[in-house]
Parts: sequence; structure tokens; C-alpha cells
Amino acid sequence: MSGVYAVIVAAGRGARFGGTLPKQYLALGPGRILRHSAGSLAAHPRIAGVQVVIRDEDRTIYDETVAGLALLPPVSGGAERQDSVRNGLEALTRYEPDHVLIHDGARPFPDAALVSRVLDALDAADAAIPALPLGDTIKRVVDHRIVETVDRSNLFRAQTPQGFRFPAILAAHREMAGRILTDDAAVAEAAGLSVAIVAGHEENLKVTTVSDLAAAERLLALRLGDVRVGQGFDVHGFAPGDHVMCCGVRVPHTAALLGHSDADVGLHALTDAMLGAIGAGDIGQHFPPGDPRWRGASSDQLLAYAATLLRNRGGEIAAVDVTIICERPKIGPHRVAMVDRVAEILAIAPDRVSVKATTTERLGFTGRGEGIAAQAVATVRLPLG
Ligand code: MG
Repeated sequence: MSGVYAVIVAAGRGARFGGTLPKQYLALGPGRILRHSAGSLAAHPRIAGVQVVIRDEDRTIYDETVAGLALLPPVSGGAERQDSVRNGLEALTRYEPDHVLIHDGARPFPDAALVSRVLDALDAADAAIPALPLGDTIKRVVDHRIVETVDRSNLFRAQTPQGFRFPAILAAHREMAGRILTDDAAVAEAAGLSVAIVAGHEENLKVTTVSDLAAAERLLALRLGDVRVGQGFDVHGFAPGDHVMCCGVRVPHTAALLGHSDADVGLHALTDAMLGAIGAGDIGQHFPPGDPRWRGASSDQLLAYAATLLRNRGGEIAAVDVTIICERPKIGPHRVAMVDRVAEILAIAPDRVSVKATTTERLGFTGRGEGIAAQAVATVRLPLG
């Protein structure tokens, strides 16, 4: 037995809002809804692994959606939600979890405190779910006419993630296969397990309508409201060779750049900008120049590492902007490839990446063709508080 795992159900075809995209893949801030759901659980310190269940035909958009997140390889969903959950649970049996959280992919903001409340409640119960009391008066309606005002005093709205002792919920799901039950707590109830409730959170909303998506966008703007900017600068001198690496792209040239790693001046400036934005020191501190591990290393590893540090804090990249300063080689013909490569390394959309070049009008060391300089700015958004 070892630890807590999570299953995220993202196999629904529920194309809402008239579109063709299942709602878990709708854009939400710098990413898609599922990226937020999966990223939140993956970042929780008590969760050892996150198992997402997807439709096979969504594999391409899934890979794009969760790029850069540390998740278990996805498994295929079934015909109904319950089949998908069961597939996720079966895939986790190899880890022998003590507890499992089951979460809807379309709920982007399961906050860490809520997750901890659910897990704490499992010390005393087979199952625990977050739930909220009803604020509005509840009416039973038939043919647009109220037939009853329902006593709401003991009614609650169920949220996810719902937590369970793993062997108990696995057995319950196996037993209830084929029956249609609306959530995993209902599966547990049908199997005779006791299900406790803990306080849910209004912000832990499920996106099912256009207005939910608008509310989620507003929440995200507030949650990632700590906007920070970092800048970086780097220089490498020329040495004999036939190409330089710049922004992850091999550029043919009559010289190479001298350096301990691949001397990618653009990626080094950008890595420093990323580290600067989160107050995480500088590139030399994380990748000491004398360290044999980084001799000849491809600098994309350095930049990806800085992005991981940011994401481990729940942050996202808003935009990065790199300026390459040299007379030669000409950067222009490689600019688009550089933008695409940086976007790929950072796992962000290319329209959040800028690479440009300038000369120094033949002045100074870059003007004399002695080397290349680069400066970069990274704008990132971190959670408030
Ligand atoms: Mg450097």
C-alpha cells in the first residue's frame, strides 16, 4: 500500500456551447480546462500520481493540453462515465494505493486546502466528498408550474474530487458495473459504504455552460493575479566552427559560440529571465559552469527546468520576448523556427513567444563580430497569496 493517487475523468464527448470540442479541452486562460484540473492535483504534495482517463481520439489534443505536467500515461475511457472511472481505477491497481481521489476533468480549480480536507476525512470514513449547502430556495416544477417548495435544510451539492479508500471503491465500481449512477459517491453508497462530506468551495465550479466558462475565466484572472517580469542577458564569443545554436535552432555560420554547454545565447538569456521572474537565482546557480553534467548539454533542458520551477508553484507563462544582438549570422530566416522551438520547450502557444534580432550598427564587440549577445524578458503569472 502506498499513498494517494488521483483519477481524472476526461473521456466525455460532451461538446457544449455548439462547438465540437469536448468541454474539458476548451481554452481557459493560458491553457485548457483539463490542464488546470490535472495541474492542480499533480501539484498537491500528498498526491503521488495522477491518472487521466481520455478518449483515444482525443490523444493529440490531450498531449498538447498537458504538455510539461508530470502525469501517469493516460488510459482509455469507456462508454459511460462509470466505465471510464473503473478503467482509471484498474490502471492504478499496480501502485496499490491506500486512497484515491476521483475528479471531473471539467472542474479546473480543486484548491489544495479542499483536497486536504477530503483526504483528512478518509482517516475516519470509507469515503468523503466536498459538498456545499444550497443557498437558493428549491422548487419542484412540473410544466413550468411550481408544485412544491422543497425543504433544502439537509440538501447538499456534491463536488469533486471525491475521496475513497482504494480497495473499497474499486470493489464497489466492479460490483456496480453496468448500473448508471451519477457520481462515485453514489457508487459507494450503492455498495453500502459510508460517505462523509467536507466543506466544498464555491470556486471549485464545474464548467458546463457558457456562463460557467466566463466565471472560470474571471476566477483564473484573480487566482493568477501575481504578475511578475524577469529579465536576462547573456553573451558568448565566437570560436572556430560551422554553426551556432540560437533559441534552440541550429544556424549555419562561419564560426561557433564558445561555452560549456551548447552556448545557446538566446536560451540562456531566456532561462535567466524565467528564473528572475520567480526570484529563483540565476542560471549559473542551477547549472554550475564547471559541472560535468552540463558539458555540451543542450540548453533546452535548462529552459524547461526553469519552466518546471514556475509550474511547480502553480504559475503560468504569459509571454516571453528575446532579442538577439549580432551582425552575423542573419537571424531573420530562422526567426519563425526559433519561435516555434521556444514555444515547444516552454509548452506554450507560439503567439506567447517573440524572437527578434538587431545589430549594434557595427559598434562594440557584437559590431566587430566577436560574438553574440541576447537579452530576454519573461512575464509570468503566479497564484495570489
Ligand atoms: Mg550563457
